[in-house]
Amino acid sequence: WATAQPLGGEGGANAFGTLVVLHDATREHLARQAGNDFVAHVSHELKSPLNVIGMYGEMLEDAGDDPTLRVEAINVIRDEVERMTSLVNNLLNVSKLEMGNMRPERHRVKLDELLRDAYQQAATRADAAGIALTLDVPRDIGAVAIDKDMFRISLNNLLNNAIKYNAAGGSVTLSAQEDDTDVVISVRDSGIGMAPEDQARVLEKFYRVRETGPAQRGGHGLGLYLANQIIELHHGRLTLKSELGRGSVFSIHLKKMPELVEGANVL
Ligand code: ADP
Repeated sequence: WATAQPLGGEGGANAFGTLVVLHDATREHLARQAGNDFVAHVSHELKSPLNVIGMYGEMLEDAGDDPTLRVEAINVIRDEVERMTSLVNNLLNVSKLEMGNMRPERHRVKLDELLRDAYQQAATRADAAGIALTLDVPRDIGAVAIDKDMFRISLNNLLNNAIKYNAAGGSVTLSAQEDDTDVVISVRDSGIGMAPEDQARVLEKFYRVRETGPAQRGGHGLGLYLANQIIELHHGRLTLKSELGRGSVFSIHLKKMPELVEGANVL
């Protein structure tokens, strides 16, 4: 826009000028709107768990020695605290990312160890949800140069989704393969899958697929956005194959460390 030439003649230049003002005003309006939507969205997402915690806190007070009531209240409070913690952590990470403060410190990481850790962390959650979790990673798979802590966020978000958007009796597999230059880490699930129009948008910030039916799952539409941004900061790629009602496969494609690629110069 800044370098565009007037369209020729007085009238043309004026018309162009008007258009620029309108364009800027629209952008400002949209930005303000997005800001308001964001504050409304986050306030709502934080307020509802707080209400629940408040209610169950009172119930705990009234429960006296009744063990069933106490256990129920404690479980609900713990779940809601977990939900809030996950939202706040995701928001902190998104703001870090958007302010340019998320810079990966890349070190040589043995992929099988990293994936085994992620698998073990997800195992309890999978167990509780009645999902069979499998790990399929060759012990001698190549190393990668990544920021372990940041990368864990991506892996956990993919694994948590594969468990969450699934049903008891379903399965999730965490696997990895390599060729001469790349490694591919995949999280495959037998869950609810996604329609093509949703697949095209799930990496957008705050995008959630509209759910119908009784099993509505909570979430904030930040997990995949963050997972993808972190993978891109590592010069990798996140791809998705999915079929509605049959399941999804999210794959992270990463370059192997140069010294491990046949024929490449040692660093
Ligand atoms: P959240 O789960 O907090 O809503 P995400 O960014 O992690 O946010 O995911 C965005 C949306 O993509 C989810 O709301 C869900 O509709 C869909 N989705 C993510 N992972 C899966 C999956 N493994 N299977 C089916 N749908 C998924």
